[in-house]
Amino acid sequence: MSSTTRIVTCIVCPEGCKVSVSTDGDTITAVSGHGCRRGLGYARQEAVAPMRTLTTSVRVSGGVLSLVSVKTSAPVPRERLLDIMTCVRRCCLSAPVSQGQVVLTNVLELGVDLVATRSVERGSPATVHEPPHGG
Ligand code: SF4
Repeated sequence: MSSTTRIVTCIVCPEGCKVSVSTDGDTITAVSGHGCRRGLGYARQEAVAPMRTLTTSVRVSGGVLSLVSVKTSAPVPRERLLDIMTCVRRCCLSAPVSQGQVVLTNVLELGVDLVATRSVERGSPATVHEPPHGG
């Protein structure tokens, strides 16, 4: 295996340290440039198996809003985000929806749930009234 080095920008805190991570295949051989241990862990994870929290929205029928915002209950492998979005697009909830409600359980058997991050009451989507013409 050949050794490669990449720069990971740490997003754990606003410092945004540029962390250099060297790997040989799947083995991390050197890490430098991190300002703290949390950043060391983040950069190591990011270099070999990046994880992301997915935030998106799911359709709602019979509610005052036609979409509800959702997110995964924990970070998921970045390479699975598109697969999760395929599941999300097939999903439609019936109002009412409660904040914190589990929308999908154990998504793709990744051990995380998709959870609503706001509530949607039962009703009709608000209509936009046009101002009267003339004048
Ligand atoms: S390495 Fe530590 S100090 Fe630097 S951005 Fe990450 S969390 Fe912040």
